[in-house]
Amino acid sequence: MPLRPSLETHDAVRYHSPQLAVEVRLNTNESPFGPPPAVVAALRDDAPELDLARYPDRHALALRRAIAAHHGVDPAAVFVANGSNEVLQTIMLAWGGPGRRLWLAEPTYGMYRQIARTTRTEVVAGRRRDDGSIDSASLREDAELVVVCQPNNPTGQLEPPDVIESLCSLEDRLVVLDEAYADFCELGPARLMAPHVVRVRTLSKAVGLAGLRLGYLVADPAIVEVLFATCLPYHVGSLTQLLALRALEDDAVVRRRASAIVAERERVLAELGARGVRTWPSATNFVLFDPGRPAEAVWHALVARGVLVRDASRWPGLTNALRVTIGTPGENDAFLAALAEVLA
Ligand code: PMP
Repeated sequence: MPLRPSLETHDAVRYHSPQLAVEVRLNTNESPFGPPPAVVAALRDDAPELDLARYPDRHALALRRAIAAHHGVDPAAVFVANGSNEVLQTIMLAWGGPGRRLWLAEPTYGMYRQIARTTRTEVVAGRRRDDGSIDSASLREDAELVVVCQPNNPTGQLEPPDVIESLCSLEDRLVVLDEAYADFCELGPARLMAPHVVRVRTLSKAVGLAGLRLGYLVADPAIVEVLFATCLPYHVGSLTQLLALRALEDDAVVRRRASAIVAERERVLAELGARGVRTWPSATNFVLFDPGRPAEAVWHALVARGVLVRDASRWPGLTNALRVTIGTPGENDAFLAALAEVLA
């Protein structure tokens, strides 16, 4: 009889989105445009020059310098990892763990609970108000870690500034602002706010590099130092460092593409509204909606029509909800047509 893992793993399998080979994949908030052209060119022209027999730069200095310049901070204030999930995991390895508590308000990004579980961090849940924003009065004094998804996945909503301010007002804890969807709203650069506040970003959404796996954090250099002491050595490969660097040089393309997504998002919201479908307003590249019929059945019927969205109906804090990523105009039309057929 093999040894039983000390970690409960059944819930994780339930959270992850099924990877189905359908025509229109609008389930994981990726970019429909592909990587920026500069990344494709670098794969062709620069990648062959990399000496892959050698370990990568352990401190990813060139990449961190570029990220730092982008946000107007010092490179010592930047940590990088394989996706922002790995950034979050490294934070929880260092600041969470047995005896430590992570505070969050659901519905929010499901991986916070999942990473808390794998790092043996206890989750304590706060509340949201009727308008969907976090009720900062429900913040627990005994939580060492606070995580806020700004704007929030899966609701798409931005927390009002007074909520962020209030959650950041206690300095004896670490406040993590997960800004994965910052490019689709007006958050601005991830400048330093306070020594106990960290801001996490990703190249998986607006930048179009979900397959590359690159996320980063902007924080006080003392925090970055702890994270580098926690992660594995050479954790971000040379190819990833090179391509992420090139992507940052293509910022104008990324911004143009993000505005196109925002325009499509507003169109999808308007069309859903016109059909009487209840939607949540969105500051991101996805829209949460209540199809008005049992969500799971609607999800299956959409898959049968070649459209994959995310079934959010069993996520904590939600009941009958589906989440659709904004794709190309053609993909969005395919989604809207399939949904109209299913709801007819
Ligand atoms: N944070 C949020 C809020 C997300 O929605 C996602 C992706 N679904 C991530 C972090 C993780 O992204 P990645 O690991 O690809 O950077």
